[in-house]
Amino acid sequence: MSEYSEQLMADVVAKNPSEPEFHQAVQEVVDSLELVFEQHPEYKSARVLERAIEPERVIMFRVPWMDDRGAVQVNRGFRIEMNSAIGPYKGGLRFHPSVNLGILKFLAFEQVFKNALTTLPMGGGKGGSDFNPKGRSDAEVMRFCQSFMTELQRHIGPNTDIPAGDIGVGGREIGYMFGQYKRLANEFSGVLTGKGRNWGGSLIRPEATGYGAVYFAQEMVKTRGQELAGRTCLVSGSGNVAQYTVQKLNELGATAVTMSDSSGYIHDPEGITPEKLEWIMELKNVRRGRISEYAEWMRGSVYTPFDASASQNPLWAHEADCAFPSATQNEINAEDAKNMIKGGVTVVSEGANMPTTADGVGVFMQAKILYAPGKAANAGGVAVSGLEMAQNSMRYSWTREEVDNRLQMIMADVHSSCVEAAERFGTPGNYVNGANIAGFLKVADSMIDQGLV
Ligand code: NDP
Repeated sequence: MSEYSEQLMADVVAKNPSEPEFHQAVQEVVDSLELVFEQHPEYKSARVLERAIEPERVIMFRVPWMDDRGAVQVNRGFRIEMNSAIGPYKGGLRFHPSVNLGILKFLAFEQVFKNALTTLPMGGGKGGSDFNPKGRSDAEVMRFCQSFMTELQRHIGPNTDIPAGDIGVGGREIGYMFGQYKRLANEFSGVLTGKGRNWGGSLIRPEATGYGAVYFAQEMVKTRGQELAGRTCLVSGSGNVAQYTVQKLNELGATAVTMSDSSGYIHDPEGITPEKLEWIMELKNVRRGRISEYAEWMRGSVYTPFDASASQNPLWAHEADCAFPSATQNEINAEDAKNMIKGGVTVVSEGANMPTTADGVGVFMQAKILYAPGKAANAGGVAVSGLEMAQNSMRYSWTREEVDNRLQMIMADVHSSCVEAAERFGTPGNYVNGANIAGFLKVADSMIDQGLV
């Protein structure tokens, strides 16, 4: 690391204590940008990266609500408005007990570069709450969402900040929040994406992140004259991203053999076929059950609970050709990455945000496998959110085929931007450098054009 980068990282750690995920996300970008700063010291002197690391605005607020027993509950709400150089803030809301300022800052920081890669005019943001929707009734989730939006609504708007879903925030939560926004603002606008089909949502938005991660993998294997058909795939998670990843893999003739939730994972060596996936979708989206129930239902599959004290995640030790981590951050460490390589994995496309630790990424790099970081591979979700915004502005909606074609084109563009930037800066085939550099250059040039704001 150069002296400049070392000093910059030391400042980031000192200024943002107790935010290890944020440090990790910044470090990765700083490492990639060393290549850029050597050739373009003007970015250093304009202190663009120092500015990009500092959120434009952080909003933190109390969310009081009443549970079904009449007891008062208090959660914390956040919105990080990270960067608006290329468009209004855009990024999801996460409801999960692990949510804190550092995790949302890491997600918002990554979002800025991801959104730039989509070629659509969207800045970056992220938000959420430490509220845990698991085990809560629909009425409790509604009261929470209404209280959360009562505060958030004064900070967002269709041309200011347009939140979407993320972990714990799906169609139900977006619906309740949209209803409350509409009531308070007295306007029907495209202030959230991921809306229901009947009230402004885009076709393919629920599918977009998972489909996009598979399209990105398809682009990567094409560079080696290969295809995904016939390949065995490890998938983690069983939420929105994981479900549509498995659906698209099935459509393309590949076989997903694992899925997980926060308690454990299932391994089905026969493959999670469309019929089995339909059962999982009903389990997760309607009954809101646990993935362990799959192994009770499907003979021949095995459920393994996760052991929080274990140093390895056994999901990643199964033999396979490709991996689609689609649960959460830091779910693959260096040991897991080594197991994946040993098990035959040559393609990793990250549906989740930063699911691989820095050491794990190092293992993939050394093995020279096709490795796509989340900020490139999962950009399909926000890309179709951008298309939802465009349709809302036009008061018009595109067909399924139109949106899917645009998604495929965008993922191919994101892929070629990464490939070109990696080559231009002397690290061909390195998608981490490619994504960080291509995303940064677009944002940095826009920031310089707009002066010191
Ligand atoms: P969901 O809430 O629909 O699903 C999340 C899945 O991951 C669930 O199976 C959940 O299990 C599991 N999970 C969550 N937290 C943990 C944890 N701490 N340890 C182990 N497993 C966990 O979320 P999404 O599918 O929307 O999001 C998954 C990932 O994809 C996240 O990293 C998100 O940031 C990223 N992403 C999502 C986009 C989207 O459009 N939705 C866009 C781009 C990225 P359980 O049910 O037990 O909680």
